[in-house]
Amino acid sequence: MNQSSVLLKVSRLNKSYEKRKILENISLEVMSGESVVLMGPSGSGKTTLFRLITGLELPDSGEIYLENRLVSSPKISIPPFQRNLGVVFQSPALWPHMDVLSNILFATQKKDTPAGIHEFVDLVIDEMEIRPLLKAYPSRLSGGEARRVSIARALASRPRLMLMDEPLTNLDSTLKDKMLEMIKRVTQEFETTLIYITHDDTEARYVSDKCYRLNNGVLTLESTGF
Ligand code: ADP
Ligand code: MG
Repeated sequence: MNQSSVLLKVSRLNKSYEKRKILENISLEVMSGESVVLMGPSGSGKTTLFRLITGLELPDSGEIYLENRLVSSPKISIPPFQRNLGVVFQSPALWPHMDVLSNILFATQKKDTPAGIHEFVDLVIDEMEIRPLLKAYPSRLSGGEARRVSIARALASRPRLMLMDEPLTNLDSTLKDKMLEMIKRVTQEFETTLIYITHDDTEARYVSDKCYRLNNGVLTLESTGF
């Protein structure tokens, strides 16, 4: 794919809940291969924008395009599983009745995955350092292990875009640093386009120097560099 092509285009998006405006005229372009951070205080609408991009929510007005294809508008919604996105929620949200390997493989089966996906899954398992956990059930995983599995599950189907919504909440700082390093390494190695949501400046600076800030429903571009 052309490295400089626009992968995600969000155009003049508006969203209200119960007549309260949450997102106001949001426009955003993310290029293929780029990592961007989305920041903003709690309640500023970050998760709402995330849910709109993933297709879990419809806009009141505006459009979302993935590789020039209209996927969301007030009238059109391509379902989440047809968007070829990798999604990591604030809590790991693993399926409790499946072991780690089944969690990962099930995610790839639900999607239209490219050939050679099993070799790729194998690579992801090593990169996320979860091989010893493959037969474990989610209830016995530590917080850090469960996050690594949820990231592996999102990466496994080789999504064109990864979206992570505060994926490192409630981890201690040593573990957080290690996970950040891991996320940065795998996204670079797999040339994954990434939207990373956080309210933590340190995380933001580490992931990317391109940062958008949401405040009172309005999105602005700022740099995280010093
Ligand atoms: P953030 O992720 O930045 O903390 P959210 O996008 O979760 O913010 O929420 C933005 C605002 O929208 C909050 O005030 C929240 O209470 C409200 N909100 C989110 N989802 C809903 C919903 N389904 N119904 C009503 N209000 C909602
Ligand atoms: Mg949120």
